[in-house]
Amino acid sequence: MGTPPTDDRRTTTAPATDDRFAVPLRGVAVDPETRCAHWDSAVDVVALRFGCCETYYPCDACHDAATDHEAEPWPRDRFDEPAVLCGACGATLTAREYLDRDSEAQRASGSRTVSGDSEGRSPSSSRTQSDDSEPRSASGSRASPDDDACPRCDAAFNPGCRAHRDRYFEA
Ligand SMILES: [Zn+2]
Ligand SMILES: [Zn+2]
Ligand SMILES: [Zn+2]
Repeated sequence: MGTPPTDDRRTTTAPATDDRFAVPLRGVAVDPETRCAHWDSAVDVVALRFGCCETYYPCDACHDAATDHEAEPWPRDRFDEPAVLCGACGATLTAREYLDRDSEAQRASGSRTVSGDSEGRSPSSSRTQSDDSEPRSASGSRASPDDDACPRCDAAFNPGCRAHRDRYFEA
């Protein structure tokens, strides 16, 4: 209830695309940062590309409303191609870039070790008692680094998206 509805909402259905965005995009009541009729909170600023029509939508409900075919997730063999749009800054991320942000911990199994011994010890012996205040999160309003956020503009992404990422990305 915080944000009043703006007049910038636009509904676009196939075959048209929303010309406010640099990528082909459609959806229902889409605002300039890709919020939509279904996902409308401050952090819902991501649009996902679908494998079926290679067009970006704020969510799968938008896809179904804007087209008349069944949605298909972005295929795994194309995870190195742009498949996620940050509505805040307009940058596109590859599926891998986007997904890696929340799967790094889970991936720490199996595969050959890419990192050698990166102990990261610095030559300086300055382990003095500075109270480790990190420069990040100075404002406190940002998501923590472990949360989903745009790597380009640092806009927070909805962490709830990962609960249904299988709708958007081939498993
Ligand atoms: Zn489609
Ligand atoms: Zn939607
Ligand atoms: Zn961004």
